Amino acid sequence: MDDNQLLRYSRHILLPEIGIDGQQALLGAHVLLIGAGGLGAPVSLYLAASGVGRITICDHDVVDLTNLQRQIVHFTDSIGKHKVESARTTLARINPEVVVEAIAERVEGPRLEQFVAAADVVIDATDNFATRHAINRACVRYQKPLVSGAAVRFDGQIAVFDLRKADSPCYHCLFPESGDLEEMRCAIMGVFAPLVGVIGAMQAAEALKLLMGVGRDLSGRLLLLDALTMEWRSVRLKKDSRCSVCGSGDTAQRQATEACVP
Ligand SMILES: [Zn+2]
Repeated sequence: MDDNQLLRYSRHILLPEIGIDGQQALLGAHVLLIGAGGLGAPVSLYLAASGVGRITICDHDVVDLTNLQRQIVHFTDSIGKHKVESARTTLARINPEVVVEAIAERVEGPRLEQFVAAADVVIDATDNFATRHAINRACVRYQKPLVSGAAVRFDGQIAVFDLRKADSPCYHCLFPESGDLEEMRCAIMGVFAPLVGVIGAMQAAEALKLLMGVGRDLSGRLLLLDALTMEWRSVRLKKDSRCSVCGSGDTAQRQATEACVP
């Protein structure tokens, strides 16, 4: 680190839990952030300000006027621009040392797997179940820590799935994929503006802790926030050994498929 970096990150370096080593770990880290909306905005601001060396942000959407009430990485003159480009511009103003890779597409399939495989930590800041499950499957496959957040109306939730560990539950253990899951689209739902800030800032905090190996992360716990009463609930999560993504369900299915091959 040069003198300017020692100054820029001095309030991190002063923390004995972080110090030079922790900050160096952040500078060398690569985070994949999927979603540059309400949650992705505060996540990206804190990752960039904290000096995470490389941030890949994926989002196919463009900024519109209804986003600006809560998506604080975008500005009024960003309307009509791709969210990832708008975010990259803002983040460069905060910290030009950080490399921001802006992917203006809905990443899925092999392309999603490629991005997940290349990251140290994956942050899910999306707003639909299909994408959440696809991200989870890729994180299970490549054993990447997944920081998952959600916010709608006054209800927020956050969980960490440290899929580097064999006994970790995955997102599918918690919310099994099924046809009758009613899709709640943020496009038509109300969202309390600071709620995405609270949950997004916590997602950034958990990602930084995972990258530095500091403290005790939210692994194996789901936190639920009711912002109307400002009450938190903590729920213990356990791996579902029959989960079709991370457990034996998948193995049984695979063996059955293989058995059919002549
Ligand atoms: Zn699972």
